[in-house]
Amino acid sequence: MILILLGPPGAGKGTQACRLVNTKGLVQLSTGDMLRTAVASGSPIGLEAKAAMDAGQLVSDELAVRIIGQRIAAGEGESGYILDGFPRNLAQAEALEAMLAKQDMNVDLVVELKVDDAAMSRRIAGRYTCAKCNEGYNDSFKPPRVKGICDVCGSDRFVRRPDDNEETVQARLAAYHEQTAPLAKYYAQRGVLRHVDGMAGIDEVWRQIEAVLEAA
Ligand code: ADP
Ligand code: ADP
Ligand code: ZN
Repeated sequence: MILILLGPPGAGKGTQACRLVNTKGLVQLSTGDMLRTAVASGSPIGLEAKAAMDAGQLVSDELAVRIIGQRIAAGEGESGYILDGFPRNLAQAEALEAMLAKQDMNVDLVVELKVDDAAMSRRIAGRYTCAKCNEGYNDSFKPPRVKGICDVCGSDRFVRRPDDNEETVQARLAAYHEQTAPLAKYYAQRGVLRHVDGMAGIDEVWRQIEAVLEAA
């Protein structure tokens, strides 16, 4: 099963991808996470990606395709992949199709998280993750059960993304509408596009995704 989560920054892609990993055994491929790891390690890919990421712009297609292509070529996902943050434009969607075809796979489902842009700034401003296990939290919408302690691993160290600031968020939302949103039509034409209400609470969004999977 190859499932793409489509939606603007803050829509809840990472949050729902994590549940898909835990319950369905899919392997999550997040180009954003891979690029952040590359930047943190100072690798050549990271050095090349950093300026665009800091500015809230897309990195080059060549870089995005290269970083995810390595993982798909390695064939690590036996039950399949959940793609979060890739593809981001038509050129990437076409490159993905070609990479999957080499392994006799194709995109089975694209779940679009429908949200209001206006609400995304608040979600993004409140976003942080556990520094140890990467569990996601939110100041307004998902605080840890015990203040300052990760629910999952008990760590008391958390991190925020440098690009989660008001200025960059506007650039990222604009990039989404210009370059990524047209993918909905591309996948609708292939008969694989489904919608869920991304404005609902985290558990309700998850119920809707499960319903989409059951109907598939
Ligand atoms: P994306 O990967 O699409 O950028 P995330 O999954 O990181 O989005 O979610 C952005 C922030 O909003 C996180 O802090 C997360 O805890 C929170 N969040 C995710 N889904 C919801 C939801 N349905 N309602 C409220 N907050 C949410
Ligand atoms: P979000 O969905 O919250 O905006 P991501 O973690 O998916 O964040 O992406 C963070 C940044 O990494 C993007 O703003 C962009 O610079 C870069 N990026 C991630 N995935 C891609 C991609 N497929 N193509 C180009 N740039 C990407
Ligand atoms: Zn943790």
